[in-house]
Amino acid sequence: MLQLPVYLDYNSTTPCDPRVVEAMLPYFTKRFGNAASRSHALGWEAEEAVELAREQVAGLVGAEPKEIIFTSGATEGDNLAIKGVFDMYASKGNHIITVVTEHKAVLDTCHHLEKSGAEVTWLQVDKDGLINLADLEAAIRPATVLIAIMYANNEIGVIQPIREISAIARRHGILFFTDATQAVGKIPVDVNADGIDLMAFSAHKLYGPKGIGALYVRRKGPRVRLTAQMDGGGHERGMRSGTLNVPAIVGLGMACELCRLEMAADTLRISPLRDRLEERLLALDGARINGSRQYRLPMVTNISFAGVDGDALLAGLGKNVALSSGSACTSASMEPSYVLKALGLDDNLAHSSLRLGLGRFTTAEEVEYAIGQIGKMVGQLRANSPSKLA
Ligand SMILES: *Cc1c(COP(=O)(O)O)cnc(C)c1O
Repeated sequence: MLQLPVYLDYNSTTPCDPRVVEAMLPYFTKRFGNAASRSHALGWEAEEAVELAREQVAGLVGAEPKEIIFTSGATEGDNLAIKGVFDMYASKGNHIITVVTEHKAVLDTCHHLEKSGAEVTWLQVDKDGLINLADLEAAIRPATVLIAIMYANNEIGVIQPIREISAIARRHGILFFTDATQAVGKIPVDVNADGIDLMAFSAHKLYGPKGIGALYVRRKGPRVRLTAQMDGGGHERGMRSGTLNVPAIVGLGMACELCRLEMAADTLRISPLRDRLEERLLALDGARINGSRQYRLPMVTNISFAGVDGDALLAGLGKNVALSSGSACTSASMEPSYVLKALGLDDNLAHSSLRLGLGRFTTAEEVEYAIGQIGKMVGQLRANSPSKLA
């Protein structure tokens, strides 16, 4: 039996894999120790669990366990990386390069730093959502301390040319930070092959619990230093104080381990479902895909339906199909997506868009159901719409 609503909003969050919950449970009750307690077995047990999780997280992205700093999620990782580098390297310079289609956690952090003397270059993207590498290189100044460019976009799934970006950063001796929240666990990410110096990601986007994430901080070639944004007991090599959330860390570790083992098989199964969904929705009048089809995550699509009111579409689908018109963070406001506008869509077209994200638990039956529901709603709204198709 089909369970409603059909969930197609995996880019905003994912359910915990039951195996992740299973692994976490003992750490709430029997094994409740503080991982920083050095004087008894409960503390040692918790520390051991945290260090195993650190290995599992590092293993998914080709890092050393010591390079993994546990955070409360990608928002904190973005803040810690950008503010931490800006503070630490103040004597070198005050210039940061980022992109207009970043997640709010990066954009707002950079805006915040502008008030504390940072100069920020905001790179534009082309109609496919990709940055121009010549623009990046031209933006570099002697005072540039950080390039912050996301791995894959949360609204359109577009994957930036990470290896080319990191090569430019290396050549100029500039640190490269990437928000890889949408990429880690979905596509192969390797901090060394990809030339990444700092990288934030989050458990709840990869079938782990909410409120836990990791920041990768390179230790060799170059050794990256950060100013802590939270002072206290000096946990996490002094970069992030606070008693470790042991159950959540165990969950993140297990989630990463499962992704490492199952990601390839998951993608083989999910990607054809995405393609089928996309093909059927594209057959509707006025439908078009937003963002590069070539450089894109295999489990997401973002489609505009010209002349259809996106809010009415979402409201009409709401009970039966759970999806969104863009990022959950901006969809509370009625503003059309700034990501879609950066691709050159006008307000109306941006407003007529759906982001469809599939995941580990999506079935072919659910996809067929969603195709039917969306097709029906788009047809109804188009019949009622006063605006003509271009
Ligand atoms: C979800 C997301 C975030 C925020 O992650 P939290 O762990 O919820 O703070 C940041 N960046 C991107 C690209 C995201 O998709």
